[in-house]
Amino acid sequence: MQQKIRREDALEYHAKGRPGKLEVIPTKDYSTQADLSLAYSPGVAEPCLAIAENREDVYKYTAKGNLVAVISNGTAVLGLGDIGPEASKPVMEGKGLLFKIYADIDVFDIELDTKNVDEFVRMVKILEPTFGGVNLEDIKAPECFEIEERLKAELNIPIMHDDQHGTAIISAAALLNALELVGKKIGEAKILINGAGASAISCTKLYVSLGANVENVVMCDSKGVIRADRTDLDERKSLFATSRDLHTLEEAFVGADVFIGLSKGNTVSQNMVRSMANDPIVFAMANPTPEISYEEALAARPDIIMATGRSDYPNQVNNVLGFPYIFRGALDVRATEINEAMKLAAVHALADMAKKPVPDLVNLAYSTDNLMFGRGYIIPKPVDPRLLETVAPAVAKAAMESGVAKHPITDWEAYESQLAR
Ligand code: NAP
Ligand code: MG
Repeated sequence: MQQKIRREDALEYHAKGRPGKLEVIPTKDYSTQADLSLAYSPGVAEPCLAIAENREDVYKYTAKGNLVAVISNGTAVLGLGDIGPEASKPVMEGKGLLFKIYADIDVFDIELDTKNVDEFVRMVKILEPTFGGVNLEDIKAPECFEIEERLKAELNIPIMHDDQHGTAIISAAALLNALELVGKKIGEAKILINGAGASAISCTKLYVSLGANVENVVMCDSKGVIRADRTDLDERKSLFATSRDLHTLEEAFVGADVFIGLSKGNTVSQNMVRSMANDPIVFAMANPTPEISYEEALAARPDIIMATGRSDYPNQVNNVLGFPYIFRGALDVRATEINEAMKLAAVHALADMAKKPVPDLVNLAYSTDNLMFGRGYIIPKPVDPRLLETVAPAVAKAAMESGVAKHPITDWEAYESQLAR
């Protein structure tokens, strides 16, 4: 079980030594005068001139190619809401830490003091020369959709809003495996989604591109079932509006094969879960309190496959399984975007990896000796070192095959062994 985190411990962790969680470390020698003459004036003029002549050389002579901007305006931070850019900084630094430890990607965290979409987009656009990629983070819906769409169109570096697509990718991998375990086809599964925000919309779109039938999808927001006759729907919610005669979440639960919760804690009852089809799949991912607790859901349905966003229960849908490796793969081929093909490649890589034998050190980390593909293990664990060697090459290959890789990999063996180091 995960130990309870005490407030004073968390504050002390962040304040001790040099405050915060990141620093900048030089990567070249700097001990002699000669080194400094190379690092800075006059030597530095040479790479400047080379890059001025050939802009792509910025990848050869600077840190751009391994540098990701983690950018937020602090409007939807964790489950804490709109707490402002300064208050979002610990999260963005934390994301930087995860990028570094899992994929050796360097991060500058950038917190913008604006809620204006045009200003946000302009700001990120003019930062493009600095970065190899952009991870948008904790920006509230609906602004997050427009910001990402516009930046994807305007920038030539990979960009991803992780709250939307990270969740979609990890939960999709878990969903494919759960469906396989219960012998149901995604195209036939009746899927109920609770929540119609940033993560729910993106998850549902990805499930549809994996074969889910829109006709079998019912989505609910805080007002109940998203029906075609509702007049308060924006274009994104309208995509998933149903014309079936369903009004409440409770009604929508009856006979569902899959429940995806991306809404609020404690919104689902045991009776709702009892009304689902055989071998129900329930991903209750509201954080930190799921739509229904793990214990209650299992008690309601012994035949359930259950996942949450929490690390203290089996089947944690955790974005850290995705973003470090997706960006690693994208950066390593200088992808100009993170496209559908790359996301789908990450989904399949994660899903397939969960079916392979688990290394001892992963079992050890969870004080067990028997993690094995099955109802209690449908997605890899975040500590699994195979994630880097599995997901990054899959994403890189998909970038190449879909024609967005500016710097294709030719020697895959060398690339994979370099990742494994
Ligand atoms: P969001 O954009 O604010 O969307 C929240 C959605 O939930 C909105 O559509 C809202 O409805 C709906 N909602 C609120 N109360 C509801 C209720 N009682 N019944 C049904 N729907 C309700 O938030 P988000 O970023 O998508 O995140 C949603 C939740 O998922 C959060 O708890 C977040 O922590 C969690 N999450 C977990 C993971 C993970 O486990 N890896 C990843 C991402 C998000 P309206 O549209 O009517 O306002
Ligand atoms: Mg986030």
